Amino acid sequence: MQPITMPPDNPVPATTVFERISSLARSMNAINLGQGFPDMPEPEALIGAAQRALSAKPNQYPPMRGLAELRASIVAYYAAAQNLAIDPEQIVVTSGATEALAAAILALVRPGDEVVLLQPLYDCYLPLVERAGGRAVLVDLDMPCGALMMASIAAAIGPATRVLVLNTPNNPLGTAFDRGTLEQIGRLCEVHDVTVIADEVWEAMLFDQTHVSALCIPSLRDRTVKIGSAGKIFSLTGWKIGWAIAAPSLAARIAAQHQYLTFTTATPLQWAVADGLLLPAAWHADHRARYVSARQRLVSGLEAAGYRILPNAGTWFVIVDLAGSGLPPDDEAIAEAMIHTAGVAAIPVSAFYAARPQTGYLRLCFAKDDSMLDEAIARLTAFRKRYL
Ligand code: PMP
Ligand code: GLN
Repeated sequence: MQPITMPPDNPVPATTVFERISSLARSMNAINLGQGFPDMPEPEALIGAAQRALSAKPNQYPPMRGLAELRASIVAYYAAAQNLAIDPEQIVVTSGATEALAAAILALVRPGDEVVLLQPLYDCYLPLVERAGGRAVLVDLDMPCGALMMASIAAAIGPATRVLVLNTPNNPLGTAFDRGTLEQIGRLCEVHDVTVIADEVWEAMLFDQTHVSALCIPSLRDRTVKIGSAGKIFSLTGWKIGWAIAAPSLAARIAAQHQYLTFTTATPLQWAVADGLLLPAAWHADHRARYVSARQRLVSGLEAAGYRILPNAGTWFVIVDLAGSGLPPDDEAIAEAMIHTAGVAAIPVSAFYAARPQTGYLRLCFAKDDSMLDEAIARLTAFRKRYL
């Protein structure tokens, strides 16, 4: 499959697919398996730490790059969880991963530069690249397995390529790159002097394999911006504490952008995340276990009803293969029918494509409590019967 170079001046969607589906779900009183947020008890350790920080710590501006205590905790967390040696000078704390992505893209992309994006892609990459004046070159991941063909990425890299954006584990697919793939990417990036933005926000939500960070790959270590999000690590999506980690000179350029985007982010929540990141590995294993059982519940319920669900390694999402489930492969139409007639909201995977969309898949969020999942399964069981 040839890469696609996007034409300039693409209109920015007025509302993201997540906002559109969530507001439709609210207005229809539907079960929202669309936008990715957990509907489960929230981690008490973090909530308690935030409450304590609000009353016991100053609520004034923290340092621009983030509280020293939070940066120290990020260092400790990655040393323990991913065997990474990071220096606090490499870290910029941001308002969510979204701001980290924006600051990294604004730091790295100049007008006319090309940026390679892999489809399906998380929604903010393309508008941010275009806001920086960059030209997106799109490469498709193989569907349905999510593999990256080195030949297609090699074909997309040219003299104007500055940046490659990776997302591992992948939203929406729930797949992750292995070390071999990252090493091959590293060799290409070294030869062509390309910087990688590695969106690894789902790193703590990988259930059946260990996460390999781009920062672990020697050839990528000094040319990677790793993006993380406490929202995903702790299931607190509304907190919007994220970070970018890069070689010190690159981190300084990202910090220069961050200071004029938001400057800092909520001080008490930074204290709480600093505490949370010091929780032991066993806490994270327990936290992950809830998602493993939620995934199992949704997948087995839907499979029993005749749905085909693609293999999932992590994230809060599974993908329904529409044709394999005996449904018409028109994800927008099925998502529309599902919300109106079954009262269940899902995200059409075609929304994660900027061109040449795959239309045969829906994304469902399984980060919900048992009763909500059971009700969704019952509704989707009845929904599928109408098409048989
Ligand atoms: N990147 C990916 C791949 C995501 O899935 C998300 C959120 N779901 C983000 C970035 C944004 O994270 P945050 O909410 O921390 O801004
Ligand atoms: N990242 C979330 C998801 O994939 C949505 C975040 C948002 O609404 N912008 O569902």
